[in-house]
Amino acid sequence: MSKVTELFGSMVFNEEVMRERLSEECYMGWKSCIAEGKSLPINIATEMANAMKAWAIEKGATHYTHWFQPMTGVTAEKHDSFITPAGGGKVLMHFSGKELVRGEPDASSFPSGGLRATFEARGYTAWDPTSFAFIKDNSLCIPTVFCSYGGQALDKKTPLLRSLDEMSRQAVRILRLFGDNQVKKVTCQVGPEQEYFLIDKAVYEKREDLILTGRTLFGARPPKGQEMDDHYFGTLKPRVAAYMAELDEELWKLGVLAKTKHNEVAPAQHELAPIFCDVNTACDQNQLTMETMKKVAGRHGMVCLLHEKPFAGVNGSGKHNNYSLCTDTGLNLFKPGSTPAQNARFLLFLAAFVKGVDEYQTLLRCTVANAGNDHRLGANEAPPAVISIFLGDDLTAVVDSIIQGTEYVGQDKRSLAIGVDVLPHIPQDNTDRNRTSPLAFTGNKFEFRMLGSTQSIAGPNVALNTIMAEELQQFADVLEKAEDFNSALQTLIRDVFRDHQRIIFNGNGYEAAWLEEAKRRGLENFSCTADALQHYADQKHIDLFVKHGIYTEEEFRARSEIHLENYCKVIHIEALTMVDMVKRDIYPAVCTYMRQVADTIVSKKAAITSIPCASEERLLRRLSDLSDKMMAACERLEAALPGLPGGTAEDQAHYYRYTVFARMEELRVYADELETCTPSTLWPLPSYCDLLFSVK
Ligand code: ADP
Ligand code: MG
Repeated sequence: MSKVTELFGSMVFNEEVMRERLSEECYMGWKSCIAEGKSLPINIATEMANAMKAWAIEKGATHYTHWFQPMTGVTAEKHDSFITPAGGGKVLMHFSGKELVRGEPDASSFPSGGLRATFEARGYTAWDPTSFAFIKDNSLCIPTVFCSYGGQALDKKTPLLRSLDEMSRQAVRILRLFGDNQVKKVTCQVGPEQEYFLIDKAVYEKREDLILTGRTLFGARPPKGQEMDDHYFGTLKPRVAAYMAELDEELWKLGVLAKTKHNEVAPAQHELAPIFCDVNTACDQNQLTMETMKKVAGRHGMVCLLHEKPFAGVNGSGKHNNYSLCTDTGLNLFKPGSTPAQNARFLLFLAAFVKGVDEYQTLLRCTVANAGNDHRLGANEAPPAVISIFLGDDLTAVVDSIIQGTEYVGQDKRSLAIGVDVLPHIPQDNTDRNRTSPLAFTGNKFEFRMLGSTQSIAGPNVALNTIMAEELQQFADVLEKAEDFNSALQTLIRDVFRDHQRIIFNGNGYEAAWLEEAKRRGLENFSCTADALQHYADQKHIDLFVKHGIYTEEEFRARSEIHLENYCKVIHIEALTMVDMVKRDIYPAVCTYMRQVADTIVSKKAAITSIPCASEERLLRRLSDLSDKMMAACERLEAALPGLPGGTAEDQAHYYRYTVFARMEELRVYADELETCTPSTLWPLPSYCDLLFSVK
């Protein structure tokens, strides 16, 4: 066995380990609980817990933790050691079935959007047996869901699991109509590509803004940025190569299929792509990947920045969510087939996706809205804020011919009867991926490209799954009643493509003309989080989620509240940090420099009375003028910070965007200008050059 195959998954209590270490009865019991979505009976949980404990202790673990994904967007864990007193001053290593399946962390400090009454601060965690336990930092981590005392979801995993069940239920109904009696379950497969920056720890530690907010709040443009395109896919620098090698190893141990790694467009920017897997695992593993990226960077004297926009004027970081639906019999439902029936099935799932995205474009936009992503979307480095679907020329030609009932003008010219004809060959579009499209069809999957790099992939996938469930349900309702399935199918697909054609766009999404065109088509364009989230809790969205049992109305409103609050908090902290940096670092530095310039003028004049001092005087006036303006802007920002008295969460978000954030931008302009005329030896912060080219 090679080293990698030995290493891979060595820290995961996966199926292979279960088969080795559990009795047949226990193993089969676990399998059937998963297949049927039931909770584990206590005897199975007890044997499982014992086996897990023994395995974990052999691997050096001393603690266990219920590992969960609260609404903070990062993971949470509370460690308990296995030890229990055994009398006579001795201890035993103990871990029961009850401890495996259920935990009771104090929930009062996690965001709940008002769901958790303060008098009932208890929360519950329950093992999600579809996700494997693993060892991290000498702790056995048990992936769990997290809910309130009353059973309301307080985490990202619960709705994801609910959305998977519902999408599967509706997809299976459709597959039955195509005569497929084998499929029991449809899952959602996701491969999240993760972008990040690496900078040297020494420069990072000198930037209060990076430490407190993850992004630079000040910084003049460097003489060289990404314009030379010499970083993209370029040779890895030795420190980066060493980092990536260790990162791969750490991820492999955790069973993460880290596959591709390369330099990205901006200097110091990189990407890691795993091989796709079921979305629940992908979601857990993406969280682990982000955490491991940061941890390993520390060991290499570097810091990994996951923020969507660490540096103004330099490409930010996103996460591409490659999404497909797959049956338990191994069929990818977004893959064009080779027989008429397979093609008809493909076109039906495609139609459901097109219709769903068109109808729920606002919802999808909301799922990628956060303060960091506002700097990217629509900024010609990420897709525009308008949602559209790229199908590529070949598939679009097929769709057009279906709508018009005309001949398909492709490689071979003919008309296309759904369910009768074979589709023309649709090549996997590898060449021109159309990097500007928010949702691009790439041969057998859709790539949702709007996600921010810090984001959990749960939210966008909950929305995609639920939208698919809704559309497939509508289709199944019609088709199950049809007398002639084939002709009903033809009509349905044609009507859907005809009615939702506006969401399909294959052109350049970065062009201003597209925004005009999109407006004409009636597509929504929310340029920022504050605007988008005004619509998150729209009745239409509540109805969708409640109907499919993904969220109760209360749960969904709570989520909307949490997202809005989070946005305001982020901006608030950024603003406070800016004020602090201006008053305590930047302004004093500029004063020092002004004094030096003034001293120069005085001493020059003292030496030779008639000596010209025009350039020094101009400089001093400029410094004085800019610092005056900067301090005035700083005071205006500070004055805005008590926030809006009263008002809804929506009002607050609007205020933070259009008052606080607007004033932050104003302040930054003066400070950045001052950086360009102050000596680097006096400037208190490492420059963009120092940061972006810090890792050799
Ligand atoms: P790119 O050019 O965007 O890097 P790749 O083909 O390398 O494209 O795939 C990017 C990601 O998509 C990878 O994480 C890959 O595992 C994932 N992926 C590939 N096929 C599928 C699929 N059928 N469903 C979901 N994700 C997929
Ligand atoms: Mg990609």
